[in-house]
Amino acid sequence: MGWTIAASNGPAARAGNARPRASKVETLPGGLQEVRHEAEHCTRCHLYKSATQTVFGEGPQDARIMFVGEQPGDQEDLAGQPFVGPAGKMLDAALKEAELDRSQVYVTNAVKHFKFTPRGKRRIHQKPNMGEIRPCRWWLEHELGIVKPKLVVALGATALTALMQRTERLADFRGRAVAFGDGQQLYTTVHPSYLLRIPDAGSKQMETAKFVRDMRQIRKLAYPD
Ligand code: SF4
Repeated sequence: MGWTIAASNGPAARAGNARPRASKVETLPGGLQEVRHEAEHCTRCHLYKSATQTVFGEGPQDARIMFVGEQPGDQEDLAGQPFVGPAGKMLDAALKEAELDRSQVYVTNAVKHFKFTPRGKRRIHQKPNMGEIRPCRWWLEHELGIVKPKLVVALGATALTALMQRTERLADFRGRAVAFGDGQQLYTTVHPSYLLRIPDAGSKQMETAKFVRDMRQIRKLAYPD
């Protein structure tokens, strides 16, 4: 590859600094397109072996907001696109409620291959571990370095861990913006798949409304005017 990338466990992370630095990526002129092409052949961890394909981020290269989820799901794995399954539809609905245009935001995942366990004809989602999150941050750093979003949004604990480069409790960050990188901000909310799993209708409605409130807050932070 013709670019350089900062190590993902640099001094700020080792010191437990609450403000991880942004990546310092020198990109090729091809930008995201070229990095996406490189990621198609990634073997940095074992997940490429069983997944259908790499699911790279999507969206404008100059997006103000970058949403980071956990990993592609079953439908994303087959389509090769992030957030096109049920969780993606939930995200789309919340964005619409908050008057945010999906085509204006960049969406990606902390881990770019689907991790699952086969059960009969079904593939059951498995949470990625640090041994998978850490090597995949290579690609996330490139996305952060090229898009340079004003606001990075962690959707769930895995995304928060990947972005902070250490395990963090979602509850400690949910619903607030913290300094991130070089003059950027990090906002944390739940992953939309969490909302889909809530069995009680009342709780689901309440949590969905809270998620939409987060999206409104995200819009205000990214577009203060
Ligand atoms: S999950 Fe990430 S690091 Fe692992 S093979 Fe896929 S793209 Fe590479």
